[in-house]
Amino acid sequence: MAVDLITLSKFGGPDVCVGAYVLDTQRAVVITMLARQTVLATGGAGKVYLYTSNPDVATGDGIAMAYRAGAEIANMEFYQFHPTVLYHPQAKSFLISEALRGEGGVLRLDDGTAFMKKHHPMADLAPRDVVARAIDFEMKRTGEDCVWLDMTHHTADFLRQRFPNIYAECIRWGIDMTERPIPVVPAAHFCCGGVDTDASGERPSRASWRSERPPARGSTAPTAWRATRCSRAWCSARGGALHAEAGTGPWPEVPDWDIGKAAPSDEAVVITQNWDEVRRLMWNYVGIVRTNRRLERAQRRIALLQEEIREYYWKHLVTQDMLELRNIATVAELIVASALCRKESRGLHYTLDHQETEPTLARDSVVKRGVGAHLR
Ligand SMILES: Cc1cc2nc3c(=O)[nH]c(=O)nc-3n(C[C@H](O)[C@H](O)[C@H](O)COP(=O)(O)OP(=O)(O)OC[C@H]3O[C@@H](n4cnc5c(N)ncnc54)[C@H](O)[C@@H]3O)c2cc1C
Repeated sequence: MAVDLITLSKFGGPDVCVGAYVLDTQRAVVITMLARQTVLATGGAGKVYLYTSNPDVATGDGIAMAYRAGAEIANMEFYQFHPTVLYHPQAKSFLISEALRGEGGVLRLDDGTAFMKKHHPMADLAPRDVVARAIDFEMKRTGEDCVWLDMTHHTADFLRQRFPNIYAECIRWGIDMTERPIPVVPAAHFCCGGVDTDASGERPSRASWRSERPPARGSTAPTAWRATRCSRAWCSARGGALHAEAGTGPWPEVPDWDIGKAAPSDEAVVITQNWDEVRRLMWNYVGIVRTNRRLERAQRRIALLQEEIREYYWKHLVTQDMLELRNIATVAELIVASALCRKESRGLHYTLDHQETEPTLARDSVVKRGVGAHLR
């Protein structure tokens, strides 16, 4: 598991990436991996939210590592929420497809009230972000833990044939969708922001990695590319990563990972506690509908948590859980900072304090370590 990118500037050299420190999880030691090219392909960051459709690995590691190494991170306030993921304490990340609403599924509150009509003329067929917002609104208003997707107007045979996987998964959790509505919540689904790259996924071409003197493509300077989801140009990034040319210069001198006085962790509860806290506060304060006050509150809380995490990180030998916690806390910080600098509602970023889309703000938000967030 990659811990951190190695940049020579850390050791007084030029600001280029030459590989990564990597945790060997079997032997519990951190090894130094030097590389001519470093590709970030660590996936999404959905675990930063309490509910997500993403797998457990989606802790935004590449984004967090790149940020710590000085790269610019763009547009992190844009997080898409899927409106309906199965709500069950043990069921992880199971999507209840929007095709169910396409087949006439109706979203209801605990007392059976259908609520989508009052939110949009298309009711349950409204666009994804509208439905997610409406569910969030109703859950916050009523204090209920979930809403219900009702398919019981169809016959049991039809539902079993039309939605065999969803039917089987629900049955696995004791929910018979042919007889009663399915409990659902919206869930973080797609991270639109990420490491700022150009369309080829190769970036140091414009001041992201290094503002003064970015290494040119094809130069001997080892550098970093990012591919797929953790980069914001993820859809075309793979080609860039594959076509990047290897440098041929001598390998730099890089000190090995120094454990200092770190000792084995004796309080893993700090990790679980902070893990829950980050995800819950992101869900409640930085979720589908935002306000300045909630964002500011979240920012203060995240800063406190990060202090605690940092202290823990320096005192203990690194573990996968600790690294993932450190990374989701960083991703949380980036989302909040980006959201706070966008004084409008636009697409997936919706705030009650600025509900209109402001044409002059159709610009990227950018966060850089030591510089802060701004619209570019
Ligand atoms: C519920 C759901 C449904 C989807 N349905 C579709 C679909 O129908 N069609 C479609 O095209 N796409 C779909 N997607 C999207 C698709 O799964 C993702 O876009 C794709 O997996 C992203 O690929 P990736 O390589 O960026 O990340 P991933 O596939 O997440 O791979 C990231 C890898 O990096 C590893 N990693 C993470 N951190 C570290 C670290 N610190 N060190 C070392 N390794 C690390 C992880 O273990 C993982 O192996 C869906 C996604 C979800 C969540």
